[in-house]
Amino acid sequence: MSQIDGLPPLRAVIAAHGLSARKSLGQNFLLDLNLTAKIARQAGDLSGCDVLEIGPGPGGLTRGLLSEGARRVLAIEKDRRCLPALEEIAAAYPGQLEIIEGDALEIDPLAHLTPPIRVAANLPYNVGTELLVRWLTPPDWPPYWQSLTLMFQREVAERIVARPGSKAYGRLAILAQWRSDAAIALSLPPEAFTPPPKVSSAVVHLTALAEPRFPARAATLSRVVAAAFNQRRKMLRAALKGQAPDIEDRLIAAGLKPTDRAEQIPLEGFCALARALDAP
Ligand code: SAM
Repeated sequence: MSQIDGLPPLRAVIAAHGLSARKSLGQNFLLDLNLTAKIARQAGDLSGCDVLEIGPGPGGLTRGLLSEGARRVLAIEKDRRCLPALEEIAAAYPGQLEIIEGDALEIDPLAHLTPPIRVAANLPYNVGTELLVRWLTPPDWPPYWQSLTLMFQREVAERIVARPGSKAYGRLAILAQWRSDAAIALSLPPEAFTPPPKVSSAVVHLTALAEPRFPARAATLSRVVAAAFNQRRKMLRAALKGQAPDIEDRLIAAGLKPTDRAEQIPLEGFCALARALDAP
């Protein structure tokens, strides 16, 4: 079947470049270009944007981002075996695809990007979560990105969008929802990937808010949330004992009950607690 970009089908690309999937790099490829274009569309209007893509692999999502009209794509890939396949895409889209070989956890992409910037990736689970936390906790807000469109295993996606009172609710939900809108955009069964992973996946779309939803100091909020959910079955007064000698008073000042548990506290409550802890 001929492709919209005139490039060969992804199965042929993988065969031509010997890109057998490596477990150590979390390689589960998307080979259906209709699906990668659909994922690219979840990233919003790409036409005036630079898109940072982490882990392009053989380039299925990269081709989706470019065919959906991205102004430029900066792709960071650790597996050098993928580079010739990515160079072929760069040749089909002159001046629109820059490829960097390396570990996304060690590369600062900012020098290579011009705002507005969107991020899109289908990444291994551990790298994705680590990068998500970094993207959500920059030194200053608003961050350099307008939106993040990221593939996760379904269980992690549910933790990002979780509401109070659910088992999935925790640090990731609070970090994500404090300063962005987060929603599951697409669900994918294992068979969507080659080779299929053991679990289902989902694409999460996050849009950065101009201002946090509720005021709080980022470092204090992050610290108190980590402590509260580290011992999520304990009452707050016990889980947060180390946060302040008068923690019960601070909890009450924040409008919370010292006997509540972390899982029951909405985002607004944690922000109020962070402010109460920072008060003189
Ligand atoms: N985006 C491609 C797709 O959808 O078919 C590949 C997805 S595969 C799940 C993850 C990709 O991330 C692989 O190509 C892998 O080599 C790459 N990768 C893994 N760890 C990485 C890292 N730390 N930095 C950059 N790329 C990484």
